[in-house]
Amino acid sequence: MALIVQKYGGTSLGSLDLIRQVAERVIQTRKREGHQVVVVLSAMAGETDRLIGMAGDISESPDPREVDVLISTGEQVSVALFCMAVRDLGFKARSLLGFQAKIITDNLYGRARIQDIDVTRIRDLLDRGNIVAVAGFQGFDERGNITTLGRGGSDTTAVALAAALEADVCEIYTDVSGVYTTDPRICEEARKLETVSYEEMLEMSSLGAKVLEIRSVEFAMKFGVPIHVRHSQTDEPGTLIVKEDEDMEHMIISGVVYNRNEARITVTKVPDKPGMAAAILSPVSNAGIIVDMIIQNTSIGSEDATDFSFSVPMNDFERAMRLVRDVAKEIGAEKVVGDDSITKISLVGVGMRNHAGVATKMFDALAKEGINILMISTSEIKISCVISDKYTELAVRAVHSAFGLDKE
Ligand code: ADP
Ligand code: ASP
Ligand code: MG
Repeated sequence: MALIVQKYGGTSLGSLDLIRQVAERVIQTRKREGHQVVVVLSAMAGETDRLIGMAGDISESPDPREVDVLISTGEQVSVALFCMAVRDLGFKARSLLGFQAKIITDNLYGRARIQDIDVTRIRDLLDRGNIVAVAGFQGFDERGNITTLGRGGSDTTAVALAAALEADVCEIYTDVSGVYTTDPRICEEARKLETVSYEEMLEMSSLGAKVLEIRSVEFAMKFGVPIHVRHSQTDEPGTLIVKEDEDMEHMIISGVVYNRNEARITVTKVPDKPGMAAAILSPVSNAGIIVDMIIQNTSIGSEDATDFSFSVPMNDFERAMRLVRDVAKEIGAEKVVGDDSITKISLVGVGMRNHAGVATKMFDALAKEGINILMISTSEIKISCVISDKYTELAVRAVHSAFGLDKE
């Protein structure tokens, strides 16, 4: 008998009918295959957004602790309804909220990290023949406060539980059939990948592929948990996320990823002297804002001043603008310009390590479509370009096709 953790995302739980279907699926795994099953559920589709909206409507800057108390309720509804459905179908089921499942986190509301999970109670419930349904996305800190793990965090709950329970596999059920060469919703030609290494998936997730939340991949890699990403309504095999092995078929590029959730800030006519980059970025990083890409260029003819641009997550854009406006005045720069209509498009692939010319080919594909590149960054296994967001779909399709990723 195997122990399997299955996670169902919000899109697979959009209605009571869908919840009932998920209950039937889980029972099949329990009955037909005889496995013990721990199920992690997200909030029903759209629910977390609705709750966040309510918090914003009642308060201009809602207290982070109370936001977590509020937005963790979506998952509570899902696990309760699911267990009722399972019981009606004649099987034993128990729901557990984060604190009942002993998912201990730090106290960073809204982006808490799991520190420990005590699985005694879950094991006990499983041994007594229950299907155990754990509310995703939530935990509690050492003082007993409810915390949430950040958007998409139910993936992390599932993988962390699979690691703590030493489960045989963590199955992530969603509304697409696996991990594709790019988002199948914006590129019809996207191909499903049979296997992806942890390392590649980590890059894809960090660059914006929503299908797996980045921390879930970090956990999986650290503890060697195999992940199987699958469609919640079909039986076809999905994509396995596993350790890179020598036999893995290696394409040079495994995927094209885009991220619309960043914004660009440019400080113009920064005095060209030592210490300016640090002066601009220190208040930003001191405020806990993560800076992604940075670019600085001195234009010919204005040798004594440079333009300095960097990108930040969209959520932190307004806050970063305020901080940078203050510094700009102090250092005598001209002005601060913000642009929140950008997209970062990235190519990911471990095979890139040994291939020259990948970047040029990407730039060329964008140029052929008349798409201007605003910022560039590279690492060993990825290249990212920032472009205007109105070209997102076009850029993804063009680059996908240029690298021969389109399905046959
Ligand atoms: P869930 O509600 O199940 O957690 P998400 O919306 O978080 O689902 O993630 C699934 C979505 O991820 C898909 O609907 C798809 O649009 C998007 N996605 C982005 N990039 C990829 C990719 N490379 N492969 C598969 N899906 C992707
Ligand atoms: N419900 C949460 C969200 O929408 C967590 C999740 O779905 O994974 O972000
Ligand atoms: Mg998700």
